[in-house]
Amino acid sequence: MAVLTKVPLQLADLPDEFEERQRRGDEQRRRRREDEREEQKPPFGTQDREFARPGERPEQFQHPGHVDADGECDADADADGRVSGDAKRIEQAGLRRSVGYLVAHGVPFPRGRQSVVGVDVSRHGTIVADADRNRTETGPKTETEPLKADPSESRTMTTLGTASAAPGETDTGRLAVGESRDGSTVALPCAVVNGANDGKTLYLQAASDGDELNGVGVVSRVVPQLDPAELSGTLLVVGIVNYHAFQVAEHRNPIDDTKMNRAYPGDENGTSSERIAAATFEAAMRADLILDLHQGSTSRMINEVRVRCGRRHRLHDECLQLAKTFGCGYVFDQKGPEGQLARVGPNEGIPTIDPELGGCVGWDEDSIAAGVEGVFNVLRGYGFLDGEATTDRQVRARGFDQYGSPSGGLVRFEVDLGDRVASGDLLFEVTDVFGELKARVTAKSDGIFWRSRRLPQVASGEYVCSVGTNLDTY
Ligand SMILES: [Zn+2]
Repeated sequence: MAVLTKVPLQLADLPDEFEERQRRGDEQRRRRREDEREEQKPPFGTQDREFARPGERPEQFQHPGHVDADGECDADADADGRVSGDAKRIEQAGLRRSVGYLVAHGVPFPRGRQSVVGVDVSRHGTIVADADRNRTETGPKTETEPLKADPSESRTMTTLGTASAAPGETDTGRLAVGESRDGSTVALPCAVVNGANDGKTLYLQAASDGDELNGVGVVSRVVPQLDPAELSGTLLVVGIVNYHAFQVAEHRNPIDDTKMNRAYPGDENGTSSERIAAATFEAAMRADLILDLHQGSTSRMINEVRVRCGRRHRLHDECLQLAKTFGCGYVFDQKGPEGQLARVGPNEGIPTIDPELGGCVGWDEDSIAAGVEGVFNVLRGYGFLDGEATTDRQVRARGFDQYGSPSGGLVRFEVDLGDRVASGDLLFEVTDVFGELKARVTAKSDGIFWRSRRLPQVASGEYVCSVGTNLDTY
């Protein structure tokens, strides 16, 4: 008979961990409230840029201001409140949101305001406040002389993990995200395509869900087609995000049974998925645009692009425009669940979309081709490459009706993916093994036949298909 052995509690560790969890919970709730408030604010990026030194790395960030409990850097600092040091240290102090802004999106320190909202330290170097510089001098002495951007300074190497490319070069490497069970390093395949000319930065990732391989197909076709000599700006690429799930061709990370796209912005000291999310999010925050390539898992699904920030978000229009430029023909526009990159990216001021490239087991060449064309159209549309982007009208769905089977048996679909359906149209029938009709299911409302199960056999109540509803075009 098995005897349960009680493992002695490590009491010394408990209070810290408990407090840390509580603090994290509070922080998450606070951030959620802030997200809601920020949907009302005007977009960032409207203020004047200042104090940028090109070519410096984020670690050189120093801010002479006080970082308050809300994670905002307040230039009205005293000696105790003063924060300086690298972004990681500040993040470990629980101030992720502030750091997110600080390394994010090319948003400058706003002149005459008390709060730092964001600066692109990765590209523009040390940023210091001047509005209240005299007051901040009460803090410990640090090297915080403000410098104007010097456009004559040449652009330097761009690095992601071990990939490091000078302007006009491409390099591939590995982005370390932790260790596997045998102690070997887990590192994601990554690439830097550093354009010969200045421009925006695009972050592109694939296989956030480990069985969604079309995005990997896109990355493996796009990167070799890009000539950095002809590129203005930079691509940062993580080719396989959900490393552990990819190894076993599963959707979720088997180490922690987590869906990666619920783990953003991640936690570098958290679970396996949270660590991967944190590392990839840090890369994503260096960009001006984020493309997170997905698909409808192994179900059958149309090619579409998801906008997940929510329709009241300050970046909603920009995300819609990015979705239209990617141009799959269909856009699903609905606020996503917490932890999605396409929700978290816009909160940090970066237009983000989640292209859903069909759905299949393995690769689907048509969906991969749509994804390759989408990436290149974005590169043309946002000035990375010469040439006109095509922007066709997109059909937008703002809701889904999901249909389950009323009985067990075999499904026969009466409509195809992409078909328009009207309320009352027959969607599918269910028969028994000998072909006898058991159920007929009709559409509850008008829409587009969006997604369906792959296997014919269903249990009663099991998912069968989805219809995109509440349609319009833009
Ligand atoms: Zn996915």
